[in-house]
Amino acid sequence: MLEKRFSGANIRQSFIDFFVDKGHEFVPSSSLVPGGDQTLLFTNAGMVQFKDVFLGTDKRPYTRAANSQKCMRVAGKHNDLDDVGRDDTHHTFFEMLGNWSFGDYYKKEAIEWAWELLTGVWGLPKADLWATCFEDEMGEIERDDEAANYWYKQPGFDPSHVLFFGRQDNFWEMAETGPSGPNSEIHLDLGPGNCANEGSLGHTCAVNLEGCTRFLELWNLVFMQYNRTGPSSLEPLPAKHVDTGLGLERIALVLQGVDSNYKTDLLSPIMDSIQRLTGHSDTEKANNITPYRVITDHARAAAFLIADGVVPGNTGRNYVSRMIIRRAARFGSLIGLDEPFLSYIAGSVIENYGDFYPELLRNQSTILDNLLREEIRFQRTVEAGVSKLETLISDSQTDRGQKLPGGKAFDLYATYGLPLEITRDIALEQDIEVDVEGFYAAMEEHRLASGAGETFGLFGEENVEIYQNLFSELVKAKKLDPEGTKYDPYDRYEVEGEVLALVRAGESNDQVKKGDFVEVLLPETCFYVEAGGQVSDTGTITSLSDPVWEIKVKDMRRPSAGVIVHIGEVMQGEPRTGDQVMARVDIQRRQDIMRNHTATHLLHAELHTVLGAHARQAGSLVAPDRLRFDFTHPEALTATELQQIEAGVNRNVLENYNLNIMFKPLQTAIAEGAIALFGEKYDATVRTITIGGESPFSYELCGGTHVRETGDIGTFLITNESSVGAGLRRIEAVTGREAYDLIQRRFQILNQTGELLDTNPEEVAEKTRGVLIQLDGARKQISSLRKEMIGQEFNRLLENVPQEDGVPVLITSLPEADAGTLRQMADRFRQRYQSGVVFLASVFNAKPLLIAAITEDLVDRGLHAGNLVEFAAQPLGGGGGGRPTLAQAGGKDPSQLDAALTNAQNWVKNQLKVVPDDQDQ
Ligand SMILES: [Zn+2]
Ligand SMILES: [Zn+2]
Repeated sequence: MLEKRFSGANIRQSFIDFFVDKGHEFVPSSSLVPGGDQTLLFTNAGMVQFKDVFLGTDKRPYTRAANSQKCMRVAGKHNDLDDVGRDDTHHTFFEMLGNWSFGDYYKKEAIEWAWELLTGVWGLPKADLWATCFEDEMGEIERDDEAANYWYKQPGFDPSHVLFFGRQDNFWEMAETGPSGPNSEIHLDLGPGNCANEGSLGHTCAVNLEGCTRFLELWNLVFMQYNRTGPSSLEPLPAKHVDTGLGLERIALVLQGVDSNYKTDLLSPIMDSIQRLTGHSDTEKANNITPYRVITDHARAAAFLIADGVVPGNTGRNYVSRMIIRRAARFGSLIGLDEPFLSYIAGSVIENYGDFYPELLRNQSTILDNLLREEIRFQRTVEAGVSKLETLISDSQTDRGQKLPGGKAFDLYATYGLPLEITRDIALEQDIEVDVEGFYAAMEEHRLASGAGETFGLFGEENVEIYQNLFSELVKAKKLDPEGTKYDPYDRYEVEGEVLALVRAGESNDQVKKGDFVEVLLPETCFYVEAGGQVSDTGTITSLSDPVWEIKVKDMRRPSAGVIVHIGEVMQGEPRTGDQVMARVDIQRRQDIMRNHTATHLLHAELHTVLGAHARQAGSLVAPDRLRFDFTHPEALTATELQQIEAGVNRNVLENYNLNIMFKPLQTAIAEGAIALFGEKYDATVRTITIGGESPFSYELCGGTHVRETGDIGTFLITNESSVGAGLRRIEAVTGREAYDLIQRRFQILNQTGELLDTNPEEVAEKTRGVLIQLDGARKQISSLRKEMIGQEFNRLLENVPQEDGVPVLITSLPEADAGTLRQMADRFRQRYQSGVVFLASVFNAKPLLIAAITEDLVDRGLHAGNLVEFAAQPLGGGGGGRPTLAQAGGKDPSQLDAALTNAQNWVKNQLKVVPDDQDQ
């Protein structure tokens, strides 16, 4: 058992508390998407959010800061994705603890505090700690004796444990120019027996020695004291800074005394959740450790990425999100996880990290929903992609040592959605290399061909510039609020305004004409824009003065920050910018949507009541004609559970509760126990929906539109319950008009059935049961009559069997005879004839059936009933076999029964002719 004070959460918190005590401001982790930094794909170090402070272009209200920063290192041609999962230490996502001084304290305090925290608070043995300092191998920059001297002064520090290293290890530079300075690293000696290379020839364990795992680098203290202005010119910085970084996973490994990051309590709960799904024993898990590690690492990274808005996509960061999800899904398939499973795994990520990173909780449904949809999307294409790749690999194996061409790898991505990284994984498993340079060259070619701009991405992104320009022009002209399009879909169904812009085919137009598809920008709108599962509104925009024109609005979107557009088709006239218009929402459709949205909240609450609190939302669709709700639950719902849920929702509909809608600070709402349902970004103030009067049973954060009272929903009916992945269920339901239609249709069917059965609807079931019993009796009777008829018909045929070379041969069809009857008839033939061949064909239950029997004497002459049926069954697309004397075959195509009979005829003729000539065989 771990000591509580060394849990991952506690290590993180004790680090922050320690530095807050020393006058530091706790600054929450910035997003994984670096704000305003075009040079960086992802935040990859704690200092990223302070870069401008070091460069002197930004100031903060504090001079000391501490935090735990979310970091991602997976991008571009050079990254260690290949190592992730194959060892115990590499990650795509990780947490970096750090403390900073912005022109405040310097080396003395940084070293003192690091020592105090490591040895005092965390109790690491002083004798095992080492420190490295800078000494320039080129003799140009001053040796960092200042840092070394502070190390010598630390109580209990062994002075022989200060080592000097050169530029590679101990000099830090932000870039070619800019802040730089010496750094001092703290290493931990894990003791003999902890080095993989111990005892190898020429290896003596030491700090900073390549391949030595006995010494572990823990913490890097960077002292920024120079400004590099050129290749060989350093100027002293007016204000000196400290920037430190301590990997949380690594310090957790040390303090928890385990030998793998995946065994720390930061990651082991995620590993456990995979094991719960696979049902593996610990040995089986150990034998499949790479997939376990990859899934653990990637599921954690994907959850954090989606929480920061990086959903799966084709370009840049979104591509990385897609790639790691797909890579995790493929590694899952290697250990038998063939259904979507990542949202289940992500659930344990959210549970484990949600306290410190509340964005995970706030975006829970978005995370689970995106994972599920991406896995389903991948499943649709992956099989084709992998089999295509395998063909390519086996082709290239004829030419050993050949690389898989990069262009082919790119085609696999463009056509089958197989990311390069997965192609490489699969190829490597067969010892084939992929031409990575070639892949990027093909991608570049594609990017140029498609005319995309200078983005990180693959296929080029949509041109958002036009909307950004429109936005700044219109704000400057005071036609648009600086906050953007005013958005209020809650209180009105119509709004008046001036047409500010008409965008058609990616360009702004002064005027458009009938039949054009166009995006209309107005100063404000009451049309709902798709969010939190609720679909966008539709409606109309019409001119308020002559000449008359009308646009039918079919969809809504936000193409760039602050801009909302109505997407529609011009039905009449020629709309122009500057025209005064009235925009009207399709009210009936919107009301249908509102009924479904409120019903979704009631359903969610009822799931908690009937199934338990674990039934978390994983995805939702609120459309006019139905609602769909995905949630976590391990097994199919029983009929009773479904009935209880449906009845519970309808009970709350009839109670006609008011919907209590309030705006509150996010922290207050979460503290009050609101369920974060709305999948979009949360502002500091959130909208809360409470239902249940005095004792509310539903309390959610939600930006959607709702009915005033639950009674407005009318009726709620569940139409379907199904599985959408491991531990994920889906309920579909209808309300209001759609529910009434459904009831209508069902009643009609019931009434019609009643009329057909000549009874009233109440007695339809009883009457039907009676009819079925009668029918069953009649069928049995028919079947025995048919057998009798077939028997009589066959007896007639037996009287008149034709001869083939002196042997009686009966080849015929007996329509609708089953296999038993055919066998019976064949026996009858053999009782009648001591020598002969009988071949019978029938179509029973729409399937062709063949039986052949051959008497012993002819078997002695080499005839075989199995060969006969096999040959005869060929045109039927079937096959069969059996003993030499009796064999049976089936097929698929009953229309070829005559061809089968002809085949039998020919086979017998041939056999009886050939055999006598072949005496000596
Ligand atoms: Zn070693
Ligand atoms: Zn909602």
